[in-house]
Parts: sequence; C-alpha cells; structure tokens
Amino acid sequence: MTTATETKSLVLLRHHLKALRLPTIGAECEKVARQAAADNADHLNYLLQLAELELLERERRAAERRLKAARFPTLKSLDTFDYAARPSVNKALIAELARCDFIDKRENVLFVGNPGTGKSHLATGLAAQACAKGYKTRFFRVTELVTTLIEARDERTLGRLKAALAKLDLLVLDELGYVPATKIGAELLFDVIATAYERTSLIVTTNLPFESWPEVLGSERLTGATLDRLTHRCRIIETKGDSYRLNDAKTRTRRAARPTPETPADTVR
Ligand code: ADP
Ligand code: MG
Repeated sequence: MTTATETKSLVLLRHHLKALRLPTIGAECEKVARQAAADNADHLNYLLQLAELELLERERRAAERRLKAARFPTLKSLDTFDYAARPSVNKALIAELARCDFIDKRENVLFVGNPGTGKSHLATGLAAQACAKGYKTRFFRVTELVTTLIEARDERTLGRLKAALAKLDLLVLDELGYVPATKIGAELLFDVIATAYERTSLIVTTNLPFESWPEVLGSERLTGATLDRLTHRCRIIETKGDSYRLNDAKTRTRRAARPTPETPADTVR
C-alpha cells in the first residue's frame, strides 16, 4: 500500500523530473524501485539503472530524429540486401563501410551501375547506419537538390542552405548523371561537391560508367577539379548486371508456373 506521503513525494518527484527533462526516469522510477527492492539493490545502483535508461532512450530518440532529418525517400536496410543476387558487390566491403570509418576519414563512396541494380538501396542502407551511429546525414536525389539550390538562390536563402549542408557529416547524392539542365544548376551542384571536399563525406550513385565520366560530365558540366575532388579518396562499387526487380519478377513468374522449384531464387539471374 502506498501511503499519502509517498503519493505526495511521487507527485513532486514527477514534477521535478519533468522540469529537469528526465521523462524516462519519471516513467520508470516506480517500476525500477520495486525491482531494486526485490533484488536488494542499493541506492546508487538504483540511480545508475535509471540514468542508464534515460540515456538509452535519449540516444534512441536522437537516432530517430537523425533518420527523419535524412529524408530517405524509402528506408532501406543493408540487412535486406540480397548479395547472392549481386555478386559484383563485395559484402565484406559493405560491412566495413557500414562501420562508418570512411565518414571519419572524409572519404567518398561511389555506386556505379545500371538502373535497378541496388545502388539507391545500398546508399540508403549505409546512410541509415550512419544515422544510427550519430552522423548527421541528408539524402538528396540530384535533381531535387539542384531544384532546391536554384530556389534558394532565387529566394536569397542560398547562404542558409549551404550552411545547413556544411553541418552534415554525410551527404547522399542519388542519381548523378541525370545532369542539371541549366548552367546555373550545374554550377550550384558542383559548388556543393567542391565544398564537401575533405569536410563532408559523399555517397554518390550514378548509372554512368566510370570511364565515361570525364566525357559525359566533362569540362563544361563538371569541371575537372570537381571530378577530381569527388573521386579522390573514393571507394568505387560497381553493381554489375541486370535490374533486380526484373529478375525478381522473372523468378516469381517461374515459381508460379512451377509450384516446386528446383532452383533456389538466389541462383537465378
Ligand atoms: P538503383 O538505384 O540501382 O536503380 P534500387 O536500389 O532502387 O536500384 O533497386 C531497385 C529495387 O530493387 C529496390 O526496391 C531495391 O530495394 C531492390 N533491390 C535491388 N537490388 C537488390 C538486392 N540485391 N537485394 C534486395 N533488394 C534489391
Ligand atoms: Mg536509384
């Protein structure tokens, strides 16, 4: 039975914890107190448990906020990537990149391959890992970034936008190569890439074969200097082969036609 004094203390405690912005301690203190009493835990141990709970919950909420702020069009996890279906992608290398040391070293990652080969999936999966590990991350389709940059310039808020981009640890540029139609768009984009150099890591996806970059993005659209900066200290991962969706659909059709498949899905190309 809770006495009137205990009830009063609890109300006051809740109030103080709210003022101190410790909501998890407020929510958990009674339950943990009962458990601590049952376990014969001392006061310091009780306080330690509560502090840990508050900290964990705070970290979880911060990670959730970073994930939201990254604005992934569709959230993809590395766990759902089928490496057997894409043998040109080295699983060990992706696992190494997922540790995010490349962000500390301000290195870039470039995914090159045909449409539907998992470039955006891998880029999103890596960037989501970065969010979980505490890195400030933002995902843009290149066309979307260019529009945003041009709008900001017209509205005289370009400085603010660039300052926000400069605060990022990791910037994802999805689908580079569907190149800005206008000269000013291209200049603004290349300025973002140049500014990121050795300050913010970039993950870039493109369906342009790497050899044709200088030619396609060459002097006019992407200056040699920007290209140099992008590809300096850069891991290049090629997602060779056909579209995953296409193969996936073919496999499903084949399965539907043959209810007992002899070939496992991941060996079908
Ligand atoms: P890209 O960006 O190269 O055009 P996406 O990453 O958008 O391709 O992939 C197209 C779709 O296929 C997405 O839904 C993605 O999750 C899925 N996909 C592609 N490759 C794989 C894979 N190896 N394992 C699991 N899903 C994949
Ligand atoms: Mg894509």
